[in-house]
Amino acid sequence: MSSDSKVTATIDFSSDGKHWGHLSIPHSRNASAWGAVHLPVISIRGGQGQVMVITGGNHGDEYEGPIALMKLARELEAGTINGQVIIIPALNFPAVMAGARVSPIDGVNMNRAFPGDRNGSVSSMIAHFVTEKILPRADAVLDIHSGGKTLMFSPQACYHKLDDADLTLRAMQAAMAFGAPITLELVELDAGGMLDSTVEDMGKVFVTTELGGGGTTTPETIAMAERGIRNLLAHFGVTSGKPVPCQDQRMMHMPDTDCVIICDDAGIYEALVNLNATITAGDAIGQIHFPEKPERAPVVYRAARDGVLIARSHKALVEPGDFLALIAADR
Ligand SMILES: [Zn+2]
Repeated sequence: MSSDSKVTATIDFSSDGKHWGHLSIPHSRNASAWGAVHLPVISIRGGQGQVMVITGGNHGDEYEGPIALMKLARELEAGTINGQVIIIPALNFPAVMAGARVSPIDGVNMNRAFPGDRNGSVSSMIAHFVTEKILPRADAVLDIHSGGKTLMFSPQACYHKLDDADLTLRAMQAAMAFGAPITLELVELDAGGMLDSTVEDMGKVFVTTELGGGGTTTPETIAMAERGIRNLLAHFGVTSGKPVPCQDQRMMHMPDTDCVIICDDAGIYEALVNLNATITAGDAIGQIHFPEKPERAPVVYRAARDGVLIARSHKALVEPGDFLALIAADR
């Protein structure tokens, strides 16, 4: 893979001060023969210190990241920081503009497109530029997710258990500093091609979040995103002050595959327990009804382990293979 990118940036990431610009990704199409996608990016650099890259809109229907990062970019000034903050409010910009999880241009899930390809589709070219030109500058990366249109989460900051114990510890400390009510040691269901592992493979701290969902936001989840970003900037010394800790923060993990309940029926899902409910193995979590056979009894889905329900399907119309629930355990 060549490290030269077809993507160009209108700002110099080595330059001090606050710079608003965009990445230009070639996108020749029927409506624009020599066209491009313009993806906004902001660099704020001043003094000496660590470099944080903060992204939102990796999935286009998750809104805490884009909203909190646009506010941060307008508020933060180079004279008040030590280091650099590179802000990408809408990493999958075409998906954000379409209100969709994946890009409407190439159907690609940005978080499966890494490390990208200079000759690939629009999503792949974005991933390649980020991998080659932005991540090497970073000391730490925060990628803000929430549940999108189909999932709902108990607000949480997440890190991965890595082979590198020191990097795992630093990521855990950063995730705790974010200050969400839950800090989760996350096990990915499908880990290939993620921004997460691309950053971690470079030996850099990576923190992600799941802050709600349903394709919308609440005042609480937005406040959590804004406070969490500020906490991490303070944690890494980019801004002065101390992180504001979360009272009663819960450290959780996913010890086995029984944590995840996957659907094996097509029908209407009725959730039987709320997020944050304490669960005992055998508890009914939800049931699926069959609108074409009203006389048929619903199929009940039960927990295979004890724990706390921290994520569930937000959509009601489900099919085999859909995610229904995540039951995590205290660490
Ligand atoms: Zn996401």
